[in-house]
Amino acid sequence: MAEILVLGAGMIGVSTALAFQERGHAVTLLDRRAAGQEASYGNAGFISADSTEPYPLPRNLKTLAAFGLGLRNDVTYDLRAVLRMAPALWQYLRHSRPDRVAEQARTYAEMARRSTAAHQRLIDAAGLGNLVRRSGYYEIRRDPRTAEAEARDAQALGRDYNVSPEILSGAELCRREPAIISEVGGAIWWPQTWLCADPGALVEGYAELFRNRGGTWAQGDATTLEQVSGGWRVQSDGGPISAEHVVVAMGAWSPKLLARFGYKIPMVYKRGYHAHFDAPRGLGASIMDGDNAVVLTSMNKGLRLATGAALVDMSAPADTRQITRGAKGVSDIIELGPRIAEPQWYGTRPFMPDMLPVVGAAPKHKGLWCHFGHGHLGFTKGPASADLLVQAFEGGRSDVLDAITPARKYALGRLGA
Ligand SMILES: Cc1cc2nc3c(=O)[nH]c(=O)nc-3n(C[C@H](O)[C@H](O)[C@H](O)COP(=O)(O)OP(=O)(O)OC[C@H]3O[C@@H](n4cnc5c(N)ncnc54)[C@H](O)[C@@H]3O)c2cc1C
Repeated sequence: MAEILVLGAGMIGVSTALAFQERGHAVTLLDRRAAGQEASYGNAGFISADSTEPYPLPRNLKTLAAFGLGLRNDVTYDLRAVLRMAPALWQYLRHSRPDRVAEQARTYAEMARRSTAAHQRLIDAAGLGNLVRRSGYYEIRRDPRTAEAEARDAQALGRDYNVSPEILSGAELCRREPAIISEVGGAIWWPQTWLCADPGALVEGYAELFRNRGGTWAQGDATTLEQVSGGWRVQSDGGPISAEHVVVAMGAWSPKLLARFGYKIPMVYKRGYHAHFDAPRGLGASIMDGDNAVVLTSMNKGLRLATGAALVDMSAPADTRQITRGAKGVSDIIELGPRIAEPQWYGTRPFMPDMLPVVGAAPKHKGLWCHFGHGHLGFTKGPASADLLVQAFEGGRSDVLDAITPARKYALGRLGA
């Protein structure tokens, strides 16, 4: 039995703590806030077993120019932040070559495929079944020709990855979802995606399970981490905590901590926002509106609209342009109702340029483990990814582990030197 200290209590850190605990280790989980308050709190709530595409950067100049000119709602940016992220973005562009995407998609899809079974165990153990419904989501397009092209791509992905998207007309979508008030050009239903009605509550519920099973919860600042004889030490509000092993699971804050130990991690910081609406009619499944780059999910707090990516510094003030534009754009197909008043939430997707997370031993330090960089799908992949980290910890080898191990990424220069 080893002593393990997990830094960060988002979906990734909490899942990590539970996975090590299940193997009989003594685990302390530390965060400066309560569990599940950052990216893991405000996402679109997808636990998406049929997600196969690892979000490559479009490589055609027309789309990139549209991003640059602010013509699309997918991406907004601050130029100075983009210049700071330039090395990571350059790598991201290189990894977005079709042959690289196909290679990365194998690992990406395999991790997604394992996600629902890994969540189910925790949902059952924590008694949180009321937070999850298994209704999938619709990807919609207004232009019939774009819808047809995307339907063909979806069918090809279905064949390649053994997932089963269903192609629907705009009229069929209206029949299935009475909240949709006008016919779009076409829709794709992805049925193997589960929806969470309160993502923050699911993470907090998993953290409660960890504590009930005897795990230690600590409040404190992980940036106090230091290597000491026999392991690692961090200062918590209750005093110093030492452990033989430490796992860095701090999402978008992980590179900054690891920089102190000599690791240069090129991350793309993709901020996202949400807003809740008091819609007169909710949705059964979710809607991913490709024309307006927003996702709509019925949640306990109301109809949640989640946005695409804002490439800004972590400390940048909130900018609600993507919410406003997205809400206006989607209002042709659904009555959103009034916006629910609440402080503006935002969170950062910790996205790696090669589109895969970093999972395994840090190459230069004994007892230092990496578990971050899950990008657009960390809420989905937390528990399955934590199982992979534990396998790596126990000396396991597999193709998936090889693709995400820090050592390989380091050797290939993707983590810098
Ligand atoms: C708008 C939006 C929609 C999304 N939709 C989905 C979706 O539908 N499905 C999906 O799978 N994924 C989705 N994602 C992505 C997903 O939310 C993230 O991949 C995931 O939450 C990352 O989890 P994490 O635990 O790595 O990071 P976080 O949840 O950000 O957790 C990091 C933790 O580290 C802690 N921390 C940071 N610094 C310190 C410090 N100095 N000391 C102590 N603790 C510290 C923080 O307090 C936090 O608790 C979405 C993201 C956004 C922004």
